[in-house]
Amino acid sequence: MIEIGLTGGIGSGKSTVADALVERGAVLIDADRIVRELQEPGQPVFDAMVERWGKKIVAKDGTLDRAKVADIAFSDEDELKALNDIVHPAVGKAMVERRKAVEGTDAVVILDIPLLVRADGQSIADQYSNLGGIIVVDIDPALAVKRLVKYRGFSRADARARIANQASREARRAVADRVIDNSGTLEDLEPQIRFVWSWIMTLPHPA
Ligand code: ATP
Repeated sequence: MIEIGLTGGIGSGKSTVADALVERGAVLIDADRIVRELQEPGQPVFDAMVERWGKKIVAKDGTLDRAKVADIAFSDEDELKALNDIVHPAVGKAMVERRKAVEGTDAVVILDIPLLVRADGQSIADQYSNLGGIIVVDIDPALAVKRLVKYRGFSRADARARIANQASREARRAVADRVIDNSGTLEDLEPQIRFVWSWIMTLPHPA
């Protein structure tokens, strides 16, 4: 198995690039997506959350009301800790299980790690000694704001604030083995994905 870290700012296109790599045969391990899966109705994490905060965090359609959860968790440190105590161990366990399932195979595992480079510019890549390489999805922050507003329902101010609280483009690019420029169209991504995939294919599988 080869493990590749994928990172980039909010709205840079990590999920889009990850999906394209999965189409080529990669296995994706994405903590955010795992969180969403674990918070589906009927999952133990969903049940534990409803047990703690009651029906007020359940929307009319029976799914989790994420805005309500955010209101509760981000206004009180104890509530945030309680949320993390429910969600983090379950996500960690699910990630380990997914990784285990492909260990010893020749799988290409893409780890989507949004905060691989912290806001202060420090990289936490050394915590992932298993990574065979790092791909950074690079984009002009102004364009990320545009896409977050247009496709993801963010307000301009919120999108800007979130980007301002993240690592700079330069700090992220500094840790990259390969940079994907997502300032063009989705079609413009395709040759870059092909190029990156060929590079991954040249990487040695760790013993
Ligand atoms: P997040 O940090 O929130 O997880 P992300 O980095 O995974 O975001 P995506 O969700 O892949 O980013 O992309 C953000 C939005 O921009 C999505 O709606 C996606 O469909 C769109 N998008 C991504 N790349 C392009 C592109 N080249 N052209 C137009 N739209 C794009």
